[in-house]
Amino acid sequence: MSLTTPSKPDIAIIMRSDEVIKKFNLKRITIDTSFGPVHRCYYGTISGKKVLIIYGRFEGQKVTSDAINAQQTIEAVANSGAKKLIGTFIVGGIKKSNPLGRTYIVQDLVGMGNYKFSCNQNYPFHNAEMFLPICRHLTDKIILSSKKMPFDINTNATYVCFHGWPRIETKAELEFYEKMGWDIVGQTLDPEATFARLYGLCYAAIAVQVDDPSSRDVYSKGDIKKDSKKQHMDLIKELRKKSTKLVLETIENLKKDSCDICCKLKRTNNSFKQFPEEFYKDSKDELYD
Ligand SMILES: [Zn+2]
Repeated sequence: MSLTTPSKPDIAIIMRSDEVIKKFNLKRITIDTSFGPVHRCYYGTISGKKVLIIYGRFEGQKVTSDAINAQQTIEAVANSGAKKLIGTFIVGGIKKSNPLGRTYIVQDLVGMGNYKFSCNQNYPFHNAEMFLPICRHLTDKIILSSKKMPFDINTNATYVCFHGWPRIETKAELEFYEKMGWDIVGQTLDPEATFARLYGLCYAAIAVQVDDPSSRDVYSKGDIKKDSKKQHMDLIKELRKKSTKLVLETIENLKKDSCDICCKLKRTNNSFKQFPEEFYKDSKDELYD
């Protein structure tokens, strides 16, 4: 059975937090999209605000980053009626000076290419305006909330979106990114951010760093503990608690006010015509006269 959200969420969050779903007794709902239903949606009230949580980015099977249907997730958010969306991310570190566990508020992104727009003919192609890819208004709210966090947060991070499936970055790639001054690397911020823009959503992003060049170096030289996979998963769970804490603080401080910029940057192109209207007239009668 497909359900729609009972009333428009004040905010949507893409995050995996079993603790939040349990603590606030969020109910699972299904949201229909033109790609089919999205079943991993949780809805309820947190700090007096109506919140929609989308549990991660995979609908069913885990797939490589290029095969993630980011458009379906964004369409589910848009169909719920939410106008604000925060994406949360576990990312790789770039700078040797930034250790594992560091938390970031993303302000800009660099797309290293290799991703594709899915061919949903219900939503005609249009290039998104991404000069400023992140919503200033929503990001400012997160920055304000970050001041109350008991840990340091880089509030002006640049995220490199690298689609190198099925691998993560080489040492040379990380050194290149570091030279460019970029902070963190991952595979999912874009095209999620691009679709959010195309659908006119206010989009912001929080990331926590799960490794750094020196921990990758140690691991790659064979220092692999027997139960390292479990330790890694436990570490990710622990790190997610930082972005969850910041998200909850942001929800607490959320006001009814809204940004009037992102909705104007929505792009649809339903009136596309290959030729000007007058050229559609069939001229064969004249040719064969
Ligand atoms: Zn906005």
